Amino acid sequence: MKALRFEKGKLRLDRKVPAPRVPGEALVRVKKAGICNTDLEIVRGYAAFSGVLGHEFVGVVEESPDPTLTGCRVVGEINAGCGSCGLCRAGDPRHCPSRTVLGIVGRDGAFAEYLTLPTRNLLSVPDSVEDRAAVFTEPLAAACSILEQLQPAPGGCVVVVGDGKLGQLIARVLAAGGCDLTLAGKHESKLRLARAAGIRSLPADEIAGDFARSCDVVVEASGSPAGLSFALGLVRPRGTLVLKSTFHGAVEVDTSRIVVDEIRIAGSRCGRFAPALRLLEERRIDVEPLITAELPLDEGVSAMELAAAPGTMKVLLSPPVS
Ligand SMILES: [Zn+2]
Ligand SMILES: [Zn+2]
Repeated sequence: MKALRFEKGKLRLDRKVPAPRVPGEALVRVKKAGICNTDLEIVRGYAAFSGVLGHEFVGVVEESPDPTLTGCRVVGEINAGCGSCGLCRAGDPRHCPSRTVLGIVGRDGAFAEYLTLPTRNLLSVPDSVEDRAAVFTEPLAAACSILEQLQPAPGGCVVVVGDGKLGQLIARVLAAGGCDLTLAGKHESKLRLARAAGIRSLPADEIAGDFARSCDVVVEASGSPAGLSFALGLVRPRGTLVLKSTFHGAVEVDTSRIVVDEIRIAGSRCGRFAPALRLLEERRIDVEPLITAELPLDEGVSAMELAAAPGTMKVLLSPPVS
């Protein structure tokens, strides 16, 4: 099969990768996959991953140890836990110390014609959710995970820093919850996109003064190291800073501000798929305007370049229909 692999510092389309076979796991034919900032960071060295990239997908189960899944259109939770440690037994494979993560840690990913995952990771997609929407389930779940960790008070001041793919999804999810939400960004075209979805969106330099040290919750999703200190500057004393960006490399931060103002810092990563699928099914979030382009898997290398270019939102990859 064809697969987009990152190996020894190089990204290339490999046309002769054997289709994966893992005993006890389902074989999924990928219909569409989405390029995420994490994929771009991996190419910069994040997570020291080598193998097939990609963790956002929708596909069809071709073979499965659970025959009721065969033929189903599915999305897949990306963390595959060991199934036996305390965290896995408590229903939290996302933090299993020996987990593998699709296209990120120790497991080939979705930029390929086929992938495998344990059946417990797969969720059926309702017929009413199209492939181009279903492929957003994973990043949308990551946005929803903030609500698993904290519930901004109704009317509370919340700022999302970052007008990129993840920031846009987070702003849409939180705005649906009824807080007083503002999206801060640096790209007029992306701010306009959020405004079209009914979200108050302002240039970051405008926000810096007006919102300084006054927000109950600030979510940092800029994907850039500079975004962190900017976001910290907006949090009120005893407020909460939620960190969503993962970078390759270390970030400098003024910890005395955190100590003196007793700011709570919450790291936030993957979320549960069911609430995200429900948002798509109920059409409470429209992801279509966030898609910049859909390219065949054959053009995977240029698709990654396009995804990294300024102004690009989501780039989708579609493997050949076999
Ligand atoms: Zn992602
Ligand atoms: Zn485990």
